[in-house]
Amino acid sequence: CGIVGYVGPQVAAEVVVNGLRRLEYRGYDSAGVAVVDDGRISLAKKAGKILNLEKLLAEEPLPDCGLGIGHTRWATHGGPTDRNAHPHTSDDGRVALVHNGIIENFAVLRRELEEAGVCLRSQTDTEIVAQLLGRELAAEGVTLAQAMRAVCARLDGAFTLVAVDAQSPDRVVAARRNSPLVVGVGEGENFLASDVAAFIEHTREAIELGQDQIVEITADRVRVTDFQGGEASVRPFHVDWDLQA
Ligand code: GLU
Repeated sequence: CGIVGYVGPQVAAEVVVNGLRRLEYRGYDSAGVAVVDDGRISLAKKAGKILNLEKLLAEEPLPDCGLGIGHTRWATHGGPTDRNAHPHTSDDGRVALVHNGIIENFAVLRRELEEAGVCLRSQTDTEIVAQLLGRELAAEGVTLAQAMRAVCARLDGAFTLVAVDAQSPDRVVAARRNSPLVVGVGEGENFLASDVAAFIEHTREAIELGQDQIVEITADRVRVTDFQGGEASVRPFHVDWDLQA
């Protein structure tokens, strides 16, 4: 339902949770956040209000680091439980993923993964994508953007996907088809979100992703490509409205 991604010098978990709060008005049933620190993914997720997630984070804080993603979920596949909340990870714990929308061919993909011996931990369509990303990345020399491209080619449906890879701790990669995704372009930091409201307290310079595009953000670079890997033209805009109090 709501998505936030961040890379930069601020504490990612805080930026992400604050961003999720800005998206609360859209409605949701669970919330979660994942960060990448020292080559490892750490995550916290909880059914219910963002307040429940914040309580969990107060008891078991995530590491202070500058790379993170977060999600508020509106369940479509699998009930609104802690386990089904996003982010979802691959079996090897290398990838964390959040997703808005529906993967229509998930049953076929799920069967394929089960036959390959992958141990699924949730009932979501989203976890299938996290597992597929993990398997793509297991091949030598494959980047997160390449893995995302390969996986998107296999998906039917509407989705915004935002992923981090423990082995590429400087970037967040996202893709979209029939579901919104905007980049917030900061100075020495960049943001991803399903809605500009998530980041306008930090920057008002934004780029709207086009249909079937992939974006890779680092702290100082935004690179947009199409699903085939070609450079894509971007649509920058300035957000000149204010949030309602
Ligand atoms: N289909 C996914 C799920 O049920 C994502 C739902 C959403 O857009 O929040 O977990």
